Amino acid sequence: MTDFASAIAAIVRGKFLKSESLSHYTSWRTGGVADYLFIPADLDDLANFLKQLPKTIPLTWLGLGSNTLVRDGGVEGVVVVTQGALNKLTETKPHLIRAEAGISAAQLARFSARLGSAGLEFMAGIPGTVGGALAMNAGCFGGETWKFVQSVETINREGEIKVRPLSDFQVSYRHVVRPNEEWFVAGNFSLVPGDKEKLLNDIRELLEKRNHSQPTGTANCGSVFRNPPGNFAGRLIEECGLKGKNQGGAHVSEKHANFIINEGHATAADIESLIQEVRAIVQEKTGIQLTPEVCIIGRQ
Ligand SMILES: Cc1cc2nc3c(=O)[nH]c(=O)nc-3n(C[C@H](O)[C@H](O)[C@H](O)COP(=O)(O)OP(=O)(O)OC[C@H]3O[C@@H](n4cnc5c(N)ncnc54)[C@H](O)[C@@H]3O)c2cc1C
Repeated sequence: MTDFASAIAAIVRGKFLKSESLSHYTSWRTGGVADYLFIPADLDDLANFLKQLPKTIPLTWLGLGSNTLVRDGGVEGVVVVTQGALNKLTETKPHLIRAEAGISAAQLARFSARLGSAGLEFMAGIPGTVGGALAMNAGCFGGETWKFVQSVETINREGEIKVRPLSDFQVSYRHVVRPNEEWFVAGNFSLVPGDKEKLLNDIRELLEKRNHSQPTGTANCGSVFRNPPGNFAGRLIEECGLKGKNQGGAHVSEKHANFIINEGHATAADIESLIQEVRAIVQEKTGIQLTPEVCIIGRQ
């Protein structure tokens, strides 16, 4: 390990790994290695780590990696992984829930429903973390993460934690602009009273609906493209005849055209080149330029 890495390894309580393959941390199950990967033991450990990390080392954050394509060349610097860490979930006042960034969206949905707090049921089918849902303004079936945010807690490179109101963020469809060099460590969600049994039943129905329409049980990243205004990316891709299109070990799902599946041996380059091909064909045939929803990171 280099000097900075040895100094950090000596002070942190969490896992600090060198040359760790990110294919284990993303739902597409492919991609290169992180120069270093850090899974904090808790928020204090994360703050200590950030204080110690030289400011010149690039930092990247991952939750459950369910919306991220890591290129085969891997990621420079340190990747901080919050899944399995930052995992406190509490009701701070009636119908006000604090969830740390590494809590899964599904866990938050069920926890809220069991408390008889309504609003976050849609999160039950989103296979990401609270941090990822805040970063992406994740949503489905009419629900959106930021509709329920009362405030968020962020951390910066000095390890300082700030509580920020909604007005500090620019929030739009699957896109959030946050203060530079700050990352989410928790969200405070303001919900409304609801009937516990009905909420749990709504979650069950919602999951059934997803199982019918999405290729569950495969390695994918959910919707690859954002829906363009007044249209659906999946419909446009299907109308262009692209369902089933292949590139190496990647193919456009037959079940939902906005999903790209890794059949098991796809490289990140296969997936990225299929994304570009689909985009070019849709543009040529319909004049509509699709914007990727997935985050593509790392060296080529
Ligand atoms: C089968 C399937 C179905 C899906 N369905 C939906 C859906 O219905 N609706 C929907 O919106 N999405 C959906 N997604 C996409 C994905 O689950 C969401 O975008 C989710 O919110 C991503 O969370 P994550 O923790 O996996 O984020 P990651 O993929 O780990 O990260 C996504 C982005 O968020 C950033 N990030 C992660 N954590 C933090 C943090 N703590 N602070 C700052 N930035 C952070 C990352 O740097 C990256 O840029 C689906 C994905 C799959 C695989």
